[in-house]
Amino acid sequence: MNRGAIAEITLSALRNNLQIIKRIVGNRHIIAVVKADAYGHGSVGISKRLLEEGVSCLAVAYTGEARILRDSGIKADIIILFDCTCIEDYFDYKLTPVIYDINTALEFSREAEKRRMKITVHLKIDTGMGRIGFNPGNAVSDAVRISEMEGIELKGLMSHFSEADLPDGKFSVRQLELFKMIKKDVQEKLGYSLMSHMANSGAVLSFDDSLLDAVRPGIMLYGYSPCMDDSGLKPLMRIKTRILSIKNLPAGSTVSYGRTFVTKRASRIAVIPVGYADGYSRRFSNNAEVIVRGKRVPVAGRICMDLTMIDVTGVEGVSQGDEVVLLGGQGVEVITARELASRIDTIPYDILTSLGGMAKKEYIH
Ligand SMILES: *Cc1c(COP(=O)(O)O)cnc(C)c1O
Repeated sequence: MNRGAIAEITLSALRNNLQIIKRIVGNRHIIAVVKADAYGHGSVGISKRLLEEGVSCLAVAYTGEARILRDSGIKADIIILFDCTCIEDYFDYKLTPVIYDINTALEFSREAEKRRMKITVHLKIDTGMGRIGFNPGNAVSDAVRISEMEGIELKGLMSHFSEADLPDGKFSVRQLELFKMIKKDVQEKLGYSLMSHMANSGAVLSFDDSLLDAVRPGIMLYGYSPCMDDSGLKPLMRIKTRILSIKNLPAGSTVSYGRTFVTKRASRIAVIPVGYADGYSRRFSNNAEVIVRGKRVPVAGRICMDLTMIDVTGVEGVSQGDEVVLLGGQGVEVITARELASRIDTIPYDILTSLGGMAKKEYIH
């Protein structure tokens, strides 16, 4: 069902951002992270364009996300970052699992044997994220054990940085050193080399030594840096809607639930069909701006579930049906995901997935 917000996605910006990544990583593999519906940009549209631009491997969180890509005709390698609940899916849809415990490895191996084949897997080492992965202490023996399982072909070794976005990279350096040690030991025991990857966008942008054999950028593709400086990257997403209704209110009127907005003068209040159910956080109540007729105007009162009021007093000629931009540009004004994020103490990732997630996508090629 279409709701009130439309996410306009400019694919030429994706190309621009991918070229920036390619310039940094040279001929290393790029594993493009398209989890969470490509950070709210629509995983099918984004993935197809990435493949056209020469990316050969995608990564998502769940096998269900990969099924959507396969059903749309995508045949490229897909790595599943952590979902090991539906083992059959990996075989039926030719997906590559990331394994982080022995029992799961055994289950994969048994299923592969049953199907008289081997499944290619990557192993994840926890070098300090404290999330998922083999503990460094037994990672080498675990990796060797898994590589010996009948149905398994061990191909990759990976880890994840916990603060690659920070300018002081001391902890990242330690994580990388630990990872490299483990990788060296595993490779020596195996007698062949593994494809290793660790770098997220933060590391791609600021930690050259961590690029290894492949990189896993996510947020960069969508035009934002996890650090504060987005230089060169171009956002793809613009969130727009149209004015549903306009009301003229005398001074001293109150607007929306809780009556937190009081008109100081005779005012024109416009209603837009976007609310917190569209991912426009309720914390933007009296705390964000939108763009109408090229001018910034404030959100008036509390954000409702499906609706938001904006104060368009003094903007010449505003009428029902006018385009309103919540994220992105109109005329000379631009609202970035970084601006919205800082208003509610979160990060651009959260803004993009929230606002893009529910919106109908329109791709501009
Ligand atoms: C999400 C994710 C990435 C991408 O991170 P960005 O900060 O968006 O570049 C890379 N690797 C793993 C394991 C992830 O979960």
